[in-house]
Amino acid sequence: MMQQYLAIKAGYPHTLVFYRMGDFYELFFADAEKAARLLDITLTQRGQSGGAPVVMAGVPFHSVDTYLARLIKLGESVALCEQVGDVATAKGPVERKVVRVVTPGTLTDTELMSDKSEAVLMVVHPGERTGLGLAWLSVTQGILFLAQCASGELGDWVARVAPGELLYSADASPTFEKSLLAVAEQPVAGGARTVAVVRPAWAFDATLGARKLLAQLQAASLSAWDAQDLGDAHAAAAALLEYAEHTQGRALTHVRSLRVERSDALINLPPNTRRNLELTQTLRGETQPTLLSLIDTCTTGMGSRQLRNWLLEPSRDRAEARARLAAIKDLREGLGERLRGALKGSSDVERITARTALRQVRPRELVGLGLTLARARQLADLLQAKSPAGAAPGLLTSLCADLVPPEGCAALLQAALRPEPAALVRDGGVIADGFDADLDELRAIQTNCDDFLIALEGRERERTGIANLRVQFNKVHGFYIEVTQGQVDKVPDDYRRRQTLKNAERFITPELKAFEDKALSAQERALSREKLLYESLLDQLQPHIPELTRVARAIAALDALCALAERSLTLNWSEPLFAAEPCIEIRGGRHPVVEARLNQTSGGSFIANDTVLGAKQRMQVITGPNMGGKSTYMRQVAVIVLLASMGSYVPAEACRLGPIDAIHTRIGAADDLANAQSTFMVEMTEAAQILHAATPQSLVLMDEIGRGTSTFDGLALAGGIAAHLHDKVRCFTLFATHYFELTEFPAQHHAALNVHVSAVEGGGQRGGGGGIVFLHQIEPGPASRSYGIQVARLAGVPSAVVQQARAALAALESQSEQHRSQVDLFAPPPELPEAETPPVVTALTAIDPDSLSPKEALDLIYQLKKLM
Ligand code: ATP
Repeated sequence: MMQQYLAIKAGYPHTLVFYRMGDFYELFFADAEKAARLLDITLTQRGQSGGAPVVMAGVPFHSVDTYLARLIKLGESVALCEQVGDVATAKGPVERKVVRVVTPGTLTDTELMSDKSEAVLMVVHPGERTGLGLAWLSVTQGILFLAQCASGELGDWVARVAPGELLYSADASPTFEKSLLAVAEQPVAGGARTVAVVRPAWAFDATLGARKLLAQLQAASLSAWDAQDLGDAHAAAAALLEYAEHTQGRALTHVRSLRVERSDALINLPPNTRRNLELTQTLRGETQPTLLSLIDTCTTGMGSRQLRNWLLEPSRDRAEARARLAAIKDLREGLGERLRGALKGSSDVERITARTALRQVRPRELVGLGLTLARARQLADLLQAKSPAGAAPGLLTSLCADLVPPEGCAALLQAALRPEPAALVRDGGVIADGFDADLDELRAIQTNCDDFLIALEGRERERTGIANLRVQFNKVHGFYIEVTQGQVDKVPDDYRRRQTLKNAERFITPELKAFEDKALSAQERALSREKLLYESLLDQLQPHIPELTRVARAIAALDALCALAERSLTLNWSEPLFAAEPCIEIRGGRHPVVEARLNQTSGGSFIANDTVLGAKQRMQVITGPNMGGKSTYMRQVAVIVLLASMGSYVPAEACRLGPIDAIHTRIGAADDLANAQSTFMVEMTEAAQILHAATPQSLVLMDEIGRGTSTFDGLALAGGIAAHLHDKVRCFTLFATHYFELTEFPAQHHAALNVHVSAVEGGGQRGGGGGIVFLHQIEPGPASRSYGIQVARLAGVPSAVVQQARAALAALESQSEQHRSQVDLFAPPPELPEAETPPVVTALTAIDPDSLSPKEALDLIYQLKKLM
């Protein structure tokens, strides 16, 4: 057995092998030690192998899911090695085989994954030149994605796709490997982690990849997807499909869709933006309250996942958003609620379909599938009734067509399966009565056993005239007819003696023997008959996989749309309009998450604000007290732009939006201690990235740039950055600052405007705390003053400190009035006049390195030193 184990283990050197032995999965040697450490299970020793004791640890097979979940969470992979041979007939150890490898990026088990997010496998392959080929897939979603990107963009792609595993080739250069490992270390959404996995170099072959893609898509050319020229991505796809098939132990017949993503097709939401806007995770790392948790009122996991994709991957092209908005409009009129009612309790058809294709599906999932398919028909009918013939075809019309379930599938499932089947086929009790005559007969034998025996006993008593004849059963001898010794001469010829006791003889008849054969094996045969029928049910479902996938996607989209319609009504959102010219115009905008929190906690109402940005007014310089609402205001603009772009109604009275290609944010101070970066370094790195990446169609939020260093440094940098964004990048910018000097910026920059969040001193009714009242209203012009000291007082800083600060402030202010020089913060640096070119530069320019002898070169160094 150890030989068998070692041979199997050799094929999975980096994976924990769970080796099935009866009711346990055992791990051996280093695997056992690792599992014992990670799972806190007992390590034991037994026998010897190669002269050393065999170290082992095991987990019971019926609770394997719990252990798998823990290992996967820790980033481990597990190869499940099952007994596949016949235990009864095997000579030596039963044949065993790895049937599946469970890895973080290829999960399909419903128990091991969240129903609101995907487990994604991603492959990256550096091309001949500087670009990278990317391919990724969620096995349960069944869509292959390809992309090519520049090396520097890998971090953004990985952060967006958030793969559980990131595969790369064994022959990757050390530099590439280092950068990839750094990218994999970044925390991804939901606190999950990305595990980097090395695969053999041969798996990354572009020609093989193209061939595999064609086979997978059952197509003759990749040009329909505009994917024919993506050689590096093809190489990545080759490794992706090879690994996915390796883990599932079979081909992925349900993966029939391909999408090519281009960085310029989506609105860029860099990781900082997703974090700062708290789209799917709060800054503290929780899943609520976030924008997603607010809008996700979907009734199914599929719907939630769909909504999440829409939110994180909005298209620059507005066609999709327009179609969704039109659908939401229709759904708002009562139809949405009816559909949501019908959607309730639907099963996760998408995952069940994938698991059916992979033949991992469980009986209860299939029962759920049957019911949901019947419901999909109802949904289609509801939609049909709503869109009268002749109405313009829209998204709802196409969903209506997609919802029609494959012919006969629901009926087949309902006929084949019991309404509440056992959890696993191996336990029996899965196939419905009346579905299969043989199975019914086998089951009848078991249940009718007693009736048959009583009937037989009666008949035999009558036939033989032996009144005390008894038909009985025991485990050793099986069924028999017992006759007391005194009556033995009355037994008929067809009685065969089975056993002689002191007072009685036991007989068997041909009829009873036949019954015994049937009854004893009936249970076993019923079980194997059920397994066979279940397998054939899966066979019958295979041709319908593409249609089931289509229905799943339609239900998911409809669920997500219904949730958005419900939210728009409940939260009083309105429809955004798209414009061709550059603009962000919002009337009465609100931050939906802050508003919801205010409603829940203080019952206070959110103060709505307007925003007008356009070609002539691209930048707002926002000033005002701490706690005044600057960050909230900036974020609300970004959130409204994002919601509109994904095709949702928005928390505003009205919104008009021109083309947008990215939302960049630089907000708050975050030390990146793990990567040895100070607060200020992080701040400047993020600012630099934005200055390089932003375009005139980008929305940029800059919150308190330059706060991490001394006042003059910070102010000078803030001024320079504002000027660059205004003059060179020409993007839409919301620039919140505590530097009053920056309120002079708009006077010199025609497309910038001062606004401030209002606050008043005194009072004490609103905003809380005597001294300052926050009105949270955005008003034109700069703030009249800052309120740092009042806010410090509100926060409970001891009054002695507050007093001292007040006095120091007064002194500083009068000093700065006196010494205020006329420094122009925003002027470009002066160019050096021609005549002033330093002599050392002139000398350097004159050198022709190829014509110098070593002696001359040395002399020259002395000369240059002198010139310096
Ligand atoms: P700081 O300069 O200290 O970062 P800030 O000006 O950015 O402060 P915010 O963090 O935006 O202030 O807002 C502080 C709090 O004020 C929010 O948590 C919210 O509770 C409340 N608030 C902000 N804007 C509004 C609004 N428009 N209506 C109601 N309450 C608001």
